[in-house]
Amino acid sequence: MSGASVVLFDLDDTLFAHRAAVALAVTAHRHNLGGTLADADDTAEVERWRLLEELHYHRYLAGEVDYLAQRRARARDFVAPFDLDLADDAHADRWFDEYRIEYERSWALHDDAIPCLEQLRAEGRRIGIITNGDLAFQQSKVKRVGLAPLVERVIASGDLGVAKPDRRIFEHACQMFGVAPADAVYVGDRLATDAIGAAEAGLIGVWLDRPRAATDAQRELAAASAVLVIDSLEALPALLAGSQ
Ligand SMILES: [Mg+2]
Repeated sequence: MSGASVVLFDLDDTLFAHRAAVALAVTAHRHNLGGTLADADDTAEVERWRLLEELHYHRYLAGEVDYLAQRRARARDFVAPFDLDLADDAHADRWFDEYRIEYERSWALHDDAIPCLEQLRAEGRRIGIITNGDLAFQQSKVKRVGLAPLVERVIASGDLGVAKPDRRIFEHACQMFGVAPADAVYVGDRLATDAIGAAEAGLIGVWLDRPRAATDAQRELAAASAVLVIDSLEALPALLAGSQ
C-alpha cells in the first residue's frame, strides 16, 4: 500500500444513493396520499421536496432547529400548496413517518461503492464514514445496505455536535482512527462541505463530481485547496495509489 492508510467517506450521495431514494419515496408517498397531491407533476414535486430538504436540513445542521422540527417544517412546507393541514405536530410526524417508510424501501448504494471499498481494504486501507446527520439513523442505513462489514467507524455530526465543514469533525475522525490528518483521505460529493472542509483540516480532500457538472470556478477552488476531483468511485483506488 502506498499513500493514506485511512479513507473516510461521506455517506449520502457518495456511497449511498440518497437522491434517487428521495425521488422514489416522495413520489410514492404523494401517490399513496391521493387527491390533489397525487395529481401534481412528479418531476416538479421531487425538486420542490429536494429544495425543502436542503433548506430545513441545513437549518438543523446549523443548530437552528432540532431533528424533529426540521422534519415537521419540510412536511408542512411541502403540503402548503395542497388541501392538507399538518399544523398539529402528531399529524406532521405521521406524514413524515409514512414518507420515511417509502424512503427506507428505496435504500440502495451506488454501484461503485462496494467494489471500491473492497479494493481499498484489500490494499490494507481502513475505512470510515463521516456524515452530517443523526448517528442512529445513518447507522441503520449503513447496516441495511451492507456497508457495515467494510466500515470500521461511523462518525455523525448529530452525535458530535459539530457538522462538516467544521474542521473539528474531521480531526475527531482522525483521532478515532489514531492517524494524523495527512494520513487520511476524505471523499464526498459536496465540494465545500466535504472536500475543501477536509483539506482545510489537513486531510487529502477528494471531490466526487458524479454528474460531471464541475464549473471552471469550482475546479479552481478545488485546485486551490489541492482537492482531487473524480467522477466515479472506480477511479479512487488508482488515484490514491498515485497521489503520494
Ligand atoms: Mg453527500
